[in-house]
Amino acid sequence: MQKTVSLHEAKLYEKLEEKKVKCTACKWYCTIPEGKTGLCSIRGNKDGKLYLLVYGKAAAVHIDPIEKKPLFHFMPGTDILSIGTYGCNFGCEFCQNWEISQTTKHEKMKDMSNQFSNVISMINNGSHDLPPKEVVELCERHRIKSIAFTYNEPSIWSEYAHDIMKEAKKKGIKGIYVSSGYETKEVMDYMRGFIDAINIDLKAFSEETYRKVCKTRLSCVLDTIKEVSGKGIWIEITTLIIPTLNDSDEELEGIAKFIASVDKSIPWHVTSFHPDYKMRDKPNTPPKTLMRAHDIGKKMGLKYVYTGNIPGLKYENTYCPACKETIIMRHGMSVTENRLKEGKCPLCKERIEGEWG
Ligand code: SF4
Repeated sequence: MQKTVSLHEAKLYEKLEEKKVKCTACKWYCTIPEGKTGLCSIRGNKDGKLYLLVYGKAAAVHIDPIEKKPLFHFMPGTDILSIGTYGCNFGCEFCQNWEISQTTKHEKMKDMSNQFSNVISMINNGSHDLPPKEVVELCERHRIKSIAFTYNEPSIWSEYAHDIMKEAKKKGIKGIYVSSGYETKEVMDYMRGFIDAINIDLKAFSEETYRKVCKTRLSCVLDTIKEVSGKGIWIEITTLIIPTLNDSDEELEGIAKFIASVDKSIPWHVTSFHPDYKMRDKPNTPPKTLMRAHDIGKKMGLKYVYTGNIPGLKYENTYCPACKETIIMRHGMSVTENRLKEGKCPLCKERIEGEWG
């Protein structure tokens, strides 16, 4: 693959005194001195300007079923082009994509005096060049109608996503963020019209867990969910259920109650954990825990709760919240039957919220 080393100036930042910059791409709002990178490791200050070091650099590109994001109420049964780069503004110990989300941070820590060039050289060795136009060409070649910015946190590389979507929108292609929920007002303004759907991780309902295990703040994520909801972007929420960390009735009730307070029709995905990265001392989530989480979600008033990562459980399906008829049948990531009629239950005609086009 062809590789180039050209720096792309970021849009989401402000210049400060003494060649410092303030990044506005996520709720950390890092102040970054000259020669350094921000907490996510992929936005760096050179000579008083902020650069997005992963612009046009793809670390992972796949064609996935849209259900894998997971999105169950948005263009079901279609393929989506999924793109990821490097870096993250979270530091989750259970990260399942840590090879791309965390390694630039490890590289940066090796030599604090030279972090800018170390990170650039790592990104260039591990990625391939994929300019925005080529992403859209890939979609057209494979007749794909949506692009997911995923695998690592997309808000921190919004300038790349923005330019891809600028081209993609000309072809009627939809944009999706799969996010940990640290989007700023600046990012949402910048991406307006380019993000059609978002899946936000709500990883726990405890500030302590967010602080110790994810190195971030729960309150910021809750704020983002409230800020995004009702703004014309389809939203679904995912919680990876980790035994003994976030699987108590109390915690699951807290999450479900919060989602219901924002909007009862937001689908909630409760998915199974497997040991990964720094969290290898906890077992896989048993199916009965996902079923319990499902029941708690429904008890708290949510209309759509889905189990994930364990194919074959009955709550992979969409049921009509009014008459309980099975509407969309799935197995794992595959839609096996879709009985939806013009966005409504085929039996009782209840409207099922989502973007089904
Ligand atoms: S995107 Fe990165 S540099 Fe910008 S505020 Fe967030 S962590 Fe800091």
